[in-house]
Amino acid sequence: MTAHNHQYTNPRIDRPGAVADALNGEVYLDIKKLLWLGAMSLLGTVGAILTISLEAVLLFVLFTGITLCFGHSLGMHRRFIHRAYDCPKWLEILWVHLGTLVGIAGPFGMLRTHDLRDWAQRQTECHDYFSHSQAWYKDAYWQLLCSINMQQRPDIVMEPVIANDPVYQWMEKTWMWQQLPWALAFYWLGGWGFVCWGIGARIVVSNVGHWLIGYFAHNNGHRSWHVEGAAVQGHNIKWTSLLTMGECWHNNHHAFPFSAKLGLEPGQWDLGWWVLVVFEKLGLVKNLRVPTREDQREELKRLVIAP
Ligand SMILES: [Zn+2]
Ligand SMILES: [Zn+2]
Repeated sequence: MTAHNHQYTNPRIDRPGAVADALNGEVYLDIKKLLWLGAMSLLGTVGAILTISLEAVLLFVLFTGITLCFGHSLGMHRRFIHRAYDCPKWLEILWVHLGTLVGIAGPFGMLRTHDLRDWAQRQTECHDYFSHSQAWYKDAYWQLLCSINMQQRPDIVMEPVIANDPVYQWMEKTWMWQQLPWALAFYWLGGWGFVCWGIGARIVVSNVGHWLIGYFAHNNGHRSWHVEGAAVQGHNIKWTSLLTMGECWHNNHHAFPFSAKLGLEPGQWDLGWWVLVVFEKLGLVKNLRVPTREDQREELKRLVIAP
């Protein structure tokens, strides 16, 4: 990024001459999402209640933590989408696979959904679907079970290094099936209890948690930065730092999307960042990006920090 840019722009979307409209679109029930989350909910509620054991719950806690931290936050979000640090390809593939296991979408689906929403939120106005501005129950229905048909959708052009990668193409096509080897291993280790808790309950809790954080992170919470001209601002949700692996510092993320470190102020715990620092010491990740003076830009206004 060149110093003192006027605005943050995403090179995958914001190209000169590109025309798109973030406001007009129609939200529709996405049958594929309904069937997927419906099946996982059966497994993760009825199945989980019938098969509950201490071991199964421990597996649920452990594997939810691993897939959210290494997979969703570090692999999918900070590396695959933002390229906020460098790492060997095998590690990137492993962590993106763990991110796919969270059960929201495949790598390309996650990237497109992320970029489209982030782009829409930075326009002067955008559809309520992107801003999470409907009542919580309607937003839950929209985000968990629906998709949006936009009148003029922007093109998202992925970098060839990921778009042409056969492993990621395969992961995208088979993202739901990526659970299968884990489900078989869990069944072998601990029967249906391990499958219901390690797959079903984990996917339901991860999906609902992801929506809840998205809902609050765009509606209320503390802010240090204001992105001028953007329809939607990000908010920090203090008490969820450990649960979200540091992803809850969403106001910082709107200000510095390319930063590998999300908890930027003193006291903002960022579990994902701590893990990256350990991996850096081990020599497995490098070039961790953090905001510098150069990243200060005209649209970004510092707010007075509340005590
Ligand atoms: Zn956001
Ligand atoms: Zn992001």
